[in-house]
Amino acid sequence: MVQNIIEIKGVEKRFGKFTAITDINLDIAKGEVVVVIGPSGSGKSTLARCINLLESYDEGDILVAGVRVENGANLSAVRADVGMVFQGFNLFPNMSILRNVALAPVRVRGLSWREAEQRAMKLLERVNIAAQAQKYPSQLSGGQQQRVAIARALAMEPEVLLFDEPTSALDPEMVGEVLDVMKSLAQDGVTMIVVTHEMGFARQVADRVVFMENGRIVEEGSPDEIFSNPKDPRLKTFLESIL
Ligand code: ADP
Ligand code: MG
Repeated sequence: MVQNIIEIKGVEKRFGKFTAITDINLDIAKGEVVVVIGPSGSGKSTLARCINLLESYDEGDILVAGVRVENGANLSAVRADVGMVFQGFNLFPNMSILRNVALAPVRVRGLSWREAEQRAMKLLERVNIAAQAQKYPSQLSGGQQQRVAIARALAMEPEVLLFDEPTSALDPEMVGEVLDVMKSLAQDGVTMIVVTHEMGFARQVADRVVFMENGRIVEEGSPDEIFSNPKDPRLKTFLESIL
């Protein structure tokens, strides 16, 4: 039996009278990599933010590791289960790289600094940035900062990692190093939802690609189905627009 880490059933999110996403149904199995694509404004970020409860949702259910993501209720449990990496890196500027990664396990999990920093060091090795551990965020390139942000998300040992356009704010020459880290996490079996415009990454790494348009999931399938044999005309138009 496949264990679904995330189950999304009939989810809708409105901002006032505006419906940002609607009728979203999506199950994500342990170890699966799902890439979400779609035009700007199609609701990709809103969906990601609902999974992490950065937004409340108005209809439906979201279950993470079998537990319903309650609007307002079990916020810290959800945040511990769902790691999030944003377009901007959001590191704490006044803390070393090592402390940035060690902080949440100390604050939320009650680890000692010594233990948390030992673990943080291992994670920094995993994202190839251990040599910078004592530096501050402003001393690092964007690509390096984003790799630290990934290590920081991993530090809470989440069930799933959520990426919202993690390379969109990077200079082109730094995109590859971040995607390489994400690829290696995928190979290690980390469950990931990745909102991205990097179609090469989607083709290579995704188990499944989900295309959103106008707040709905319009089509989903294997990378081959989505990129080589798109069915919905809106998906065809989108793919033509980005190639
Ligand atoms: P995407 O990430 O695919 O570009 P978003 O999820 O950011 O799309 O936005 C989906 C729609 O919801 C857009 O029309 C956007 O303007 C709207 N929206 C997003 N956040 C808010 C908000 N806080 N208040 C009002 N409208 C919003
Ligand atoms: Mg977005």
